[in-house]
Amino acid sequence: MIAANWKMHKGPRRTRDFLGAFEPPDGVEVVIAPSFVSLRAAVESGRRIYSQNVHWENEGAFTGEVSVAMLQEIGVAGSIVGHSERRQYFGETDETTAKRAEAALAAGLGVIACVGETERERDAAETESVLRRQVGALPRDERLVIAYEPVWAIGTGKTATPELAQEAHTLIKSLLDVPVIYGGSVKPENAVELLAQPDIDGALVGGASLDPESFTAICRAGIPS
Ligand code: PEP
Repeated sequence: MIAANWKMHKGPRRTRDFLGAFEPPDGVEVVIAPSFVSLRAAVESGRRIYSQNVHWENEGAFTGEVSVAMLQEIGVAGSIVGHSERRQYFGETDETTAKRAEAALAAGLGVIACVGETERERDAAETESVLRRQVGALPRDERLVIAYEPVWAIGTGKTATPELAQEAHTLIKSLLDVPVIYGGSVKPENAVELLAQPDIDGALVGGASLDPESFTAICRAGIPS
Protein backbone atom coordinates (compact mmCIF):
# COMPACT_ATOMS: atom_id res chain seq x y z
CA MET A 1 0.00 0.00 0.00
CA ILE A 2 1.27 3.44 -0.94
CA ALA A 3 -0.84 6.11 0.76
CA ALA A 4 -0.84 9.88 0.26
CA ASN A 5 -1.57 12.07 3.27
CA TRP A 6 -2.30 15.50 1.87
CA LYS A 7 -2.76 17.07 5.32
CA MET A 8 -4.21 20.63 4.98
CA HIS A 9 -3.34 20.96 1.28
CA LYS A 10 -5.47 20.93 -1.91
CA GLY A 11 -9.10 22.03 -2.00
CA PRO A 12 -11.52 20.31 -4.42
CA ARG A 13 -10.17 22.08 -7.54
CA ARG A 14 -6.55 21.08 -6.94
CA THR A 15 -7.68 17.62 -5.92
CA ARG A 16 -9.40 17.15 -9.30
CA ASP A 17 -6.34 18.55 -11.12
CA PHE A 18 -4.03 16.10 -9.36
CA LEU A 19 -6.23 13.06 -9.82
CA GLY A 20 -6.87 13.94 -13.48
CA ALA A 21 -3.11 13.85 -14.10
CA PHE A 22 -2.28 10.92 -11.83
CA GLU A 23 -1.64 7.57 -13.47
CA PRO A 24 -0.29 5.14 -10.90
CA PRO A 25 1.23 1.86 -12.09
CA ASP A 26 -0.69 -1.41 -11.74
CA GLY A 27 0.27 -3.81 -8.99
CA VAL A 28 0.25 -1.42 -6.06
CA GLU A 29 -2.65 -0.47 -3.77
CA VAL A 30 -2.84 3.32 -3.88
CA VAL A 31 -4.73 5.32 -1.25
CA ILE A 32 -5.27 9.09 -1.28
CA ALA A 33 -6.25 10.98 1.90
CA PRO A 34 -7.27 14.56 1.08
CA SER A 35 -8.85 17.09 3.43
CA PHE A 36 -12.51 16.59 4.36
CA VAL A 37 -13.77 19.23 1.91
CA SER A 38 -11.99 17.51 -0.98
CA LEU A 39 -13.19 13.98 -0.27
CA ARG A 40 -16.16 14.10 -2.63
CA ALA A 41 -14.07 15.46 -5.51
CA ALA A 42 -11.50 12.74 -4.85
CA VAL A 43 -14.09 9.95 -4.75
CA GLU A 44 -15.27 11.03 -8.23
CA SER A 45 -11.89 9.88 -9.58
CA GLY A 46 -12.74 6.25 -8.77
CA ARG A 47 -9.54 5.92 -6.68
CA ARG A 48 -9.42 4.48 -3.14
CA ILE A 49 -9.97 7.50 -0.90
CA TYR A 50 -9.40 7.72 2.87
CA SER A 51 -10.21 10.57 5.25
CA GLN A 52 -7.51 11.92 7.57
CA ASN A 53 -9.61 11.23 10.65
CA VAL A 54 -13.01 9.85 11.73
CA HIS A 55 -15.13 10.02 14.91
CA TRP A 56 -16.36 6.97 16.81
CA GLU A 57 -19.97 8.14 17.29
CA ASN A 58 -22.54 7.98 14.49
CA GLU A 59 -23.80 11.51 15.13
CA GLY A 60 -24.10 14.01 17.96
CA ALA A 61 -22.71 17.17 19.53
CA PHE A 62 -19.09 16.80 18.38
CA THR A 63 -18.25 20.05 16.62
CA GLY A 64 -15.65 19.68 13.90
CA GLU A 65 -15.87 15.88 13.72
CA VAL A 66 -17.11 13.56 10.94
CA SER A 67 -18.67 10.12 11.41
CA VAL A 68 -18.09 6.79 9.68
CA ALA A 69 -21.62 6.87 8.22
CA MET A 70 -21.03 10.33 6.71
CA LEU A 71 -17.83 9.12 5.05
CA GLN A 72 -19.48 5.98 3.73
CA GLU A 73 -22.39 7.99 2.33
CA ILE A 74 -20.01 9.75 -0.07
CA GLY A 75 -17.98 6.67 -0.97
CA VAL A 76 -14.90 7.07 1.25
CA ALA A 77 -13.16 3.70 1.72
CA GLY A 78 -11.21 4.24 4.92
CA SER A 79 -9.54 6.56 7.34
CA ILE A 80 -6.17 7.46 8.84
CA VAL A 81 -6.31 7.64 12.64
CA GLY A 82 -3.87 8.76 15.32
CA HIS A 83 -1.54 10.73 13.04
CA SER A 84 1.24 12.32 15.08
CA GLU A 85 0.06 15.81 14.08
CA ARG A 86 -3.34 14.97 15.62
CA ARG A 87 -1.59 13.66 18.74
CA GLN A 88 0.81 16.63 18.93
CA TYR A 89 -1.52 19.57 18.17
CA PHE A 90 -5.06 18.33 18.83
CA GLY A 91 -4.86 16.19 21.96
CA GLU A 92 -5.32 12.82 20.26
CA THR A 93 -4.40 9.95 22.59
CA ASP A 94 -3.90 6.20 22.35
CA GLU A 95 -7.43 5.83 23.70
CA THR A 96 -9.17 8.14 21.20
CA THR A 97 -7.10 6.65 18.36
CA ALA A 98 -8.29 3.17 19.33
CA LYS A 99 -11.94 4.31 19.54
CA ARG A 100 -11.73 5.85 16.08
CA ALA A 101 -10.10 2.73 14.64
CA GLU A 102 -12.64 0.38 16.26
CA ALA A 103 -15.66 2.30 14.95
CA ALA A 104 -14.27 2.53 11.43
CA LEU A 105 -13.29 -1.16 11.28
CA ALA A 106 -16.63 -2.25 12.71
CA ALA A 107 -18.42 -0.47 9.86
CA GLY A 108 -16.14 -1.98 7.21
CA LEU A 109 -13.89 1.00 6.54
CA GLY A 110 -10.16 0.46 6.04
CA VAL A 111 -7.96 1.97 8.75
CA ILE A 112 -4.36 3.19 8.79
CA ALA A 113 -3.41 3.73 12.44
CA CYS A 114 -0.25 5.78 13.00
CA VAL A 115 2.33 5.08 15.69
CA GLY A 116 5.86 6.35 16.26
CA GLU A 117 8.25 7.81 18.79
CA THR A 118 9.37 11.43 19.15
CA GLU A 119 13.03 12.44 18.94
CA ARG A 120 13.17 12.84 22.71
CA GLU A 121 11.76 9.36 23.21
CA ARG A 122 14.26 7.83 20.76
CA ASP A 123 17.16 9.66 22.45
CA ALA A 124 15.97 8.37 25.81
CA ALA A 125 15.92 4.78 24.44
CA GLU A 126 12.13 4.67 24.85
CA THR A 127 11.24 3.72 21.26
CA GLU A 128 10.36 0.14 22.12
CA SER A 129 8.19 0.99 25.12
CA VAL A 130 6.38 3.75 23.20
CA LEU A 131 5.64 1.40 20.29
CA ARG A 132 4.52 -1.36 22.66
CA ARG A 133 2.12 1.07 24.37
CA GLN A 134 0.75 2.61 21.15
CA VAL A 135 0.32 -0.70 19.32
CA GLY A 136 -1.04 -2.38 22.47
CA ALA A 137 -3.88 0.16 22.57
CA LEU A 138 -5.05 -0.64 19.01
CA PRO A 139 -7.85 -3.09 18.24
CA ARG A 140 -6.70 -6.64 17.40
CA ASP A 141 -8.09 -6.69 13.88
CA GLU A 142 -6.37 -8.28 10.92
CA ARG A 143 -7.85 -5.64 8.58
CA LEU A 144 -5.93 -2.90 10.36
CA VAL A 145 -2.88 -1.34 8.68
CA ILE A 146 -0.30 0.30 10.96
CA ALA A 147 1.85 3.21 9.80
CA TYR A 148 5.17 3.44 11.63
CA GLU A 149 5.99 7.13 11.50
CA PRO A 150 8.89 8.24 13.70
CA VAL A 151 7.79 11.76 14.62
CA TRP A 152 11.32 13.16 14.12
CA ALA A 153 11.20 12.05 10.48
CA ILE A 154 7.85 13.60 9.53
CA GLY A 155 8.15 16.64 7.31
CA THR A 156 11.74 17.16 8.45
CA GLY A 157 13.64 15.67 5.53
CA LYS A 158 15.25 13.24 8.04
CA THR A 159 14.38 9.70 7.05
CA ALA A 160 14.86 6.65 9.22
CA THR A 161 17.54 4.44 7.74
CA PRO A 162 16.07 1.32 6.13
CA GLU A 163 17.68 -0.76 8.91
CA LEU A 164 16.20 1.36 11.68
CA ALA A 165 12.75 1.31 10.07
CA GLN A 166 12.99 -2.45 9.50
CA GLU A 167 13.81 -2.95 13.20
CA ALA A 168 10.75 -0.97 14.31
CA HIS A 169 8.51 -2.78 11.82
CA THR A 170 9.70 -6.18 13.06
CA LEU A 171 8.84 -5.17 16.61
CA ILE A 172 5.38 -3.89 15.59
CA LYS A 173 4.64 -7.06 13.63
CA SER A 174 5.63 -9.18 16.62
CA LEU A 175 2.95 -7.30 18.60
CA LEU A 176 0.23 -7.31 15.96
CA ASP A 177 0.44 -9.37 12.78
CA VAL A 178 -0.84 -6.82 10.27
CA PRO A 179 0.69 -4.90 7.35
CA VAL A 180 3.00 -2.12 8.54
CA ILE A 181 3.78 0.80 6.23
CA TYR A 182 6.52 3.37 6.81
CA GLY A 183 6.09 7.16 6.90
CA GLY A 184 8.60 9.95 7.41
CA SER A 185 10.09 11.98 4.55
CA VAL A 186 9.61 9.21 1.96
CA LYS A 187 10.73 10.52 -1.44
CA PRO A 188 11.41 8.98 -4.86
CA GLU A 189 15.13 8.92 -3.91
CA ASN A 190 14.74 6.76 -0.79
CA ALA A 191 11.55 4.80 -1.52
CA VAL A 192 13.15 1.82 -3.30
CA GLU A 193 15.57 1.10 -0.47
CA LEU A 194 12.94 1.50 2.25
CA LEU A 195 10.35 -0.60 0.44
CA ALA A 196 12.91 -3.36 -0.18
CA GLN A 197 13.00 -4.13 3.56
CA PRO A 198 11.19 -7.40 4.31
CA ASP A 199 8.85 -5.97 6.97
CA ILE A 200 8.04 -2.68 5.23
CA ASP A 201 4.73 -3.28 3.46
CA GLY A 202 4.25 0.14 1.95
CA ALA A 203 4.55 3.85 2.62
CA LEU A 204 2.53 6.74 4.01
CA VAL A 205 3.72 9.83 2.18
CA GLY A 206 3.13 13.47 3.12
CA GLY A 207 5.11 16.18 1.30
CA ALA A 208 6.20 14.07 -1.67
CA SER A 209 2.61 12.97 -2.37
CA LEU A 210 1.49 16.48 -3.30
CA ASP A 211 3.11 16.33 -6.73
CA PRO A 212 1.74 13.69 -9.15
CA GLU A 213 5.17 12.97 -10.63
CA SER A 214 6.98 12.32 -7.35
CA PHE A 215 4.04 10.37 -5.92
CA THR A 216 3.86 8.23 -9.08
CA ALA A 217 7.60 7.53 -8.77
CA ILE A 218 7.07 6.36 -5.17
CA CYS A 219 4.16 4.18 -6.29
CA ARG A 220 6.46 2.59 -8.89
CA ALA A 221 8.99 1.85 -6.15
CA GLY A 222 6.21 -0.07 -4.37
CA ILE A 223 5.72 -2.64 -7.12
CA PRO A 224 7.04 -5.96 -5.80
CA SER A 225 9.96 -7.15 -7.92
C1 PEP B 1 2.94 12.10 7.08
O1 PEP B 1 2.39 13.16 7.26
O2 PEP B 1 2.33 11.07 7.36
C2 PEP B 1 4.30 12.10 6.55
C3 PEP B 1 4.96 10.97 6.57
O3 PEP B 1 4.80 13.28 6.06
P1 PEP B 1 6.18 13.50 5.25
O4 PEP B 1 6.22 12.44 4.17
O5 PEP B 1 6.07 14.88 4.68
O6 PEP B 1 7.29 13.35 6.23
